[in-house]
Amino acid sequence: MAQTIKHSEFVLIGGGIMSATLAILLFEKFPGKKITIIEKLPKMAEESSEAWNNAGTGHAGNCELNYTPEKKGEIDIKKAIEISEQFKETFNFWKYCAEKGYINNLSKCVNEVPHVSFVQGKKNVAFLEKRWRILKEYPHFSGMAFSNNKDEIKEWLPLMMEGRSDKEDIAATYFNNGYDVNFGEIADQIFRFLGKQKNVELLNNSNVYNLQKTDNKRWLTTVKGQNVGKHWKIVSNYVFIGAGGGTLPLLDKANIKESKGYGGFPISGLWLRCTNPEIIERHHAKAYGKAKRGAPPMSVPHMDTRVINGRKELLFGPFAGFTTKFLKHGSMFDLPRSVEFDNIMSLLGAGYQNLPLVKYLIKQVRLTFKDRMDMLREFYPNADNDDWKMVVAGQRVQIIKRNKKGFGKLEFGTEIIVSKDKSIAALLGASPGASTSYSVMKQVMAKSF
Ligand SMILES: Cc1cc2nc3c(=O)[nH]c(=O)nc-3n(C[C@H](O)[C@H](O)[C@H](O)COP(=O)(O)OP(=O)(O)OC[C@H]3O[C@@H](n4cnc5c(N)ncnc54)[C@H](O)[C@@H]3O)c2cc1C
Repeated sequence: MAQTIKHSEFVLIGGGIMSATLAILLFEKFPGKKITIIEKLPKMAEESSEAWNNAGTGHAGNCELNYTPEKKGEIDIKKAIEISEQFKETFNFWKYCAEKGYINNLSKCVNEVPHVSFVQGKKNVAFLEKRWRILKEYPHFSGMAFSNNKDEIKEWLPLMMEGRSDKEDIAATYFNNGYDVNFGEIADQIFRFLGKQKNVELLNNSNVYNLQKTDNKRWLTTVKGQNVGKHWKIVSNYVFIGAGGGTLPLLDKANIKESKGYGGFPISGLWLRCTNPEIIERHHAKAYGKAKRGAPPMSVPHMDTRVINGRKELLFGPFAGFTTKFLKHGSMFDLPRSVEFDNIMSLLGAGYQNLPLVKYLIKQVRLTFKDRMDMLREFYPNADNDDWKMVVAGQRVQIIKRNKKGFGKLEFGTEIIVSKDKSIAALLGASPGASTSYSVMKQVMAKSF
């Protein structure tokens, strides 16, 4: 079959917030050099970055209790500080993009919504107070309030206090200066700007299915046009794989030494979405609880105010589940296809060493709508089944990394992989996620150039 050959300096695979951010960094650092962004879906930012597919929390360590673990009676706040700083620099980057006209309406993307931690039970109340006493001494969290007084908590979380027993031990911290972010809208606005630039090419409906190194050390990216059934190749000096859950299979194709032994463990997500505008109006917070035993860190339940396309919304979840798809719009064969000779031990090892997680996911898959509503009632006791419906969230592919013994370990962070000759980079994992997109892409730039 005849194939067209195109040329570009930089090829970015995936049209999510990570590629959008990197594209701006490349656009500024290498003025006039050609950048090609390839996205398999008809529109940009329709996978994890899309507003309904993630929780839209501007993660800054304010309310997420998994970022301040307690070990032997000591609360470790290192991760919360690090994420707070990374969110701050990412937010500053968005403001800079707005000043330069790369983002044309930042107020459509970022809204102030208080970040609240909410706990139940004596032990958790003591933990939350101890955590607050440490955090409030840092400028990152100054102004954070703590309360175990039900009347005060009622002012912060009126809906969640309705119908709650007076006997229950509860506590909350309240941080006014938190954010809800529409990451998809940010990416979309950046791509709209880039699409108007002479040296930038945006290709939608274009599925990358192969990556090869040419004899003269350049990359050959093979693309199939989804609608037209046409194939073409793009020759470039540099490739970034920012394909979210689709990154791992493409890394395999690129066949670089640095990616050997990696595997992926897909975890799907579901939300309960509130459909009653009166209820939505009466909650104004991102209220994070404590993860259940065995739950992965990204399954911390939260009841979230969202602002999507100018409308207030209310979500509860996410409920995790097991799936074999790497992308929401992916294929059931993604996981089986990712099993290779060099990662099979990693995958088996990770499964064996994470049996509590596997058991947790199996339980989550078996939950009925009624079970999920009962979980919501731990947050909002008066929740009515008729006011909520289930919606499907995005997919996350957690990294499985080979340890020294050759077995896999499940990682919940992100990993930047760069080839030795720095001609290709990839991003694996999804946490803390889009909130730190600028910090992560800054590292990609530093490692690549
Ligand atoms: C349930 C859930 C909740 C989350 N909550 C938060 C949160 O509250 N705060 C936060 O900061 N982060 C959150 N995240 C994480 C955040 O959504 C991601 O970190 C971020 O969106 C990743 O952006 P990305 O550009 O890497 O990937 P994506 O947005 O997924 O973009 C990758 C793109 O690559 C395309 N692609 C894949 N394969 C190919 C191919 N072969 N050829 C061409 N294109 C391809 C896909 O179609 C997709 O558009 C959450 C994620 C999930 C799933």
